[in-house]
Amino acid sequence: QHLLGRIERLDGELNSFITVTSDAALDAADRADAARAAGRAGALTGLPLALKDIFCTQGVKTSAGSRMLDDFVSPYDASVVEKLAAAGSVSLGKTNMDEFAMGSSNENSHYGPVKNPWDLTAVPGGSSGGSAAAVAAGLVPAAMGTDTGGSIRQPAAFCGITGLKPTYGRVSRYGMIAYASSLDQAGPMARTAEDCALLLNAIAGHDLRDSTSVARGVPDYTAELDAPLAGLKIGLPKEYFGEGLDPAVATTVHEAIEVFETLGASVREVSLPHTHYAIPAYYVIAPAEASSNLSRFDGVRFGHRCDDPKDLIDLYERTRSEGFGEEVKRRILIGTHTLSEGFFDAYYKKAQQVRRLIRQDFLDAFEQVDVLMGPASPTPAFDLGAKSDPVSMYLQDIYTIAVNLAGIPGISVPAGFVDGRPVGLQVLGTHFAEERLLNVAHRFQ
Ligand code: GLN
Repeated sequence: QHLLGRIERLDGELNSFITVTSDAALDAADRADAARAAGRAGALTGLPLALKDIFCTQGVKTSAGSRMLDDFVSPYDASVVEKLAAAGSVSLGKTNMDEFAMGSSNENSHYGPVKNPWDLTAVPGGSSGGSAAAVAAGLVPAAMGTDTGGSIRQPAAFCGITGLKPTYGRVSRYGMIAYASSLDQAGPMARTAEDCALLLNAIAGHDLRDSTSVARGVPDYTAELDAPLAGLKIGLPKEYFGEGLDPAVATTVHEAIEVFETLGASVREVSLPHTHYAIPAYYVIAPAEASSNLSRFDGVRFGHRCDDPKDLIDLYERTRSEGFGEEVKRRILIGTHTLSEGFFDAYYKKAQQVRRLIRQDFLDAFEQVDVLMGPASPTPAFDLGAKSDPVSMYLQDIYTIAVNLAGIPGISVPAGFVDGRPVGLQVLGTHFAEERLLNVAHRFQ
């Protein structure tokens, strides 16, 4: 009730929620009280949280930030939603996001931009901007996001919270509205690494309904949080500290790295030589997959449908013209172009080859060091409306995108402020190194 009151008072301005499910939340809270009274409480029993509006929630609108799904009420729960509910958590609602998770500022939402709670003239980052802003503003202690190219880590950095993108396959994608299926991964956004560990305990694991989820045991992610960092080998990718990085952000990140040295870690420079190709490769692969995934929104089965279609083609054309926003249309066009005959080899196939090289860069680096560290984003949160051309927005993703192409995990941890706006330190590890990332982040906090 306390948090629902805060949402009521503060979210008119922040716009971090698309849907608030007060009644269902109060019912779930009663059930949590009963579980506690019966001695059946777990770590998440009664924990209020919010879900990015990309997770299907039974009986609750699931919009993915799009006009296309403005009237879509999901008939089933995503696996992540099911698991969080089974653990006794209490969802307060669904958070705002860039349409179909395409964006880095939350300005591509059909429901309007979200404001950054630290500075209302700044963006919260994207695409999980609503989840990040809701946690930062104290509307919920934790929220779920998804990360296809940085959408958990970059908004976490911009809003001064902790956000973890797990290894691809660690968390089931079942019931998550697909953007780019080979890159999408759900993860926790919270105040601390410890909170993220508790949430990851609940959501990780194999799921028969997602063939890309990995059949591998789930450790207790809180077990190693306090492990000492003496002897930890940290690599600083030189490509993550070059041109384009705001010098004040660089200073903040270097100061954070010095803290690890005082904790007994050693630091050395490493190279990820194909970093330069990550943005072009991603912005071929992600739109290609998106153009295929978004073909299901045709006005026939669910979602928006245009009025009085003349025939089937008219139904498709007007439904999709009306239902999708500008950035989504741009990506569908890019994706269908790069997949079309005559262009496939030059773009899509080439991008997949580059993807393999990028993955190998990381694997080579992890032969030498335990973790990589660098900035989560080249700048702190920028002003609302500051990046009107798409390419300058895409360039924002330079430090986050390669991680998804490689499938490795990454965490963004608050590292300080520049001009009153938060800066995130990003820590990367090899596949399934979540325990180590949480440990490193926890010792820093
Ligand atoms: N900013 C990137 C994009 O627009 C990443 C978004 C995401 O991770 N969902 O595609």
